[in-house]
Amino acid sequence: MKVMKFGGTSVGKPERMEQVAQLITRDNESKIVVLSALSGTTNALVAIGESLAKGDKQAAKEKIEALDAHYQSFLSSLLKKKETYEKGKAIIAEHFEFLNIILKISFNEALNKDILAQGELMSTKMFSVYLEENGIPHALLPALDFMQIDANDEPQLDVIRTRLSKILAQQSQIKLFITQGYICRNARGEVDNLKRGGSDYTASLVAAAINGTVCEIWTDIDGMHNNDPRVVKKTVPIEQLSFDEAAELAYFGAKILHPTCIWPAQQEKVPVKLLNTMQPDAAGTVITKDAGSVGAKAVAAKDGIIAIKIKSTRMLLAYGFLRKIFEVFEKYRTPIDMITTSEVAVSLTIDSDAGLKQILKELEPFGNIEIDKDQTIVSIVGNEIAQTPNVLSRLFESLSPVPVRMVSYGGSPHNISILVPGDYKTQTLQLLNKGLFGLE
Ligand code: ADP
Ligand code: ASP
Ligand code: MG
Repeated sequence: MKVMKFGGTSVGKPERMEQVAQLITRDNESKIVVLSALSGTTNALVAIGESLAKGDKQAAKEKIEALDAHYQSFLSSLLKKKETYEKGKAIIAEHFEFLNIILKISFNEALNKDILAQGELMSTKMFSVYLEENGIPHALLPALDFMQIDANDEPQLDVIRTRLSKILAQQSQIKLFITQGYICRNARGEVDNLKRGGSDYTASLVAAAINGTVCEIWTDIDGMHNNDPRVVKKTVPIEQLSFDEAAELAYFGAKILHPTCIWPAQQEKVPVKLLNTMQPDAAGTVITKDAGSVGAKAVAAKDGIIAIKIKSTRMLLAYGFLRKIFEVFEKYRTPIDMITTSEVAVSLTIDSDAGLKQILKELEPFGNIEIDKDQTIVSIVGNEIAQTPNVLSRLFESLSPVPVRMVSYGGSPHNISILVPGDYKTQTLQLLNKGLFGLE
């Protein structure tokens, strides 16, 4: 059994949904198809939640109406037969009724999660009606029946596996299942989600849970490219990546993959393929345990980074100093991305300011604290990266106009990371494209 995940743009137009139906019926292998919300929907739902959080019900109402109109026109071109069209309309009407009811009750975070879940619920149900109209046998698999996160928002793979195998065993005659990406239940049993871009994570978790033959991530580009195509003009697809390389690229900003979606597939050794819905026969990228080659393969950038420097003469020869600092970050559940130390100072980076105020307060007794916001981590990723000839000299030569704030080398054999002011991100990615890959 395999998993095929289609992202927002792959289902964002009626003709794309038709194409998805063709792609999932190209072979006879049993499959679980994971769908995202139609492109733009989750952004619209986030905006509705933000208006409600501000108490601006009128703005929320207008946004719901605009979204409703979009779904009406989508349905009318997707479903051609009267009966299925009416069925689709009734389904979508229910979801918009739910959104309209929310306008009348008091808003809270749990309700916001319910709002965010509507996109994937609607896309999968509309697609199911489309398959029905075209006589394609299948079953809907409600993600909320098996996708589970714990009290720390971590997916519980064992629970997912147990639930899913039970559900699948009850429907062993069915070869095609459609399920929602992104959405799940939390430790309190409420509707929750795997964070933005989380449908990739769903796909990898499901593929690991069923020990799938492959986890295919279908999107709008022909695989992982060597650089961010939204920033740099000339980029090229990478044929092969190891799980470790892909995980570093995803975590450090390659938007094509959710930041933490690689580990489930890696743990169960399920190959991941990145494929292009618009160009289904392009090779794409294959991700397995083998890197295929050594040396720099790609760069990625992660924005919104906060750098914190703690300067202390007491650090001199003081064992236990770093532990005490790390404990502060642990207390506020804030992961540290980069760290560099000297005898008198330690610099580290975090990607969220959620606990920043408290963290800074607790760090105060340790020394002088400096913070720099709006920084960007640029990561150069590749198997045994140090084996790229003259990698460091090429790196720094190409980056001579950029004020590099921190460098992390040697922490991972697959990654060199640098921290630059956010304003220098575009220039850094462009210079590295030329300096490391000879692309302009
Ligand atoms: P989906 O909606 O299918 O999940 P996403 O928008 O989340 O698609 O991811 C695909 C996009 O990721 C591409 O259109 C591309 O702009 C962006 N992207 C960023 N970095 C990379 C990269 N290194 N390789 C390929 N795509 C990238
Ligand atoms: N629809 C969700 C989002 O836009 C999840 C996803 O597309 O992966 O973030
Ligand atoms: Mg995505």
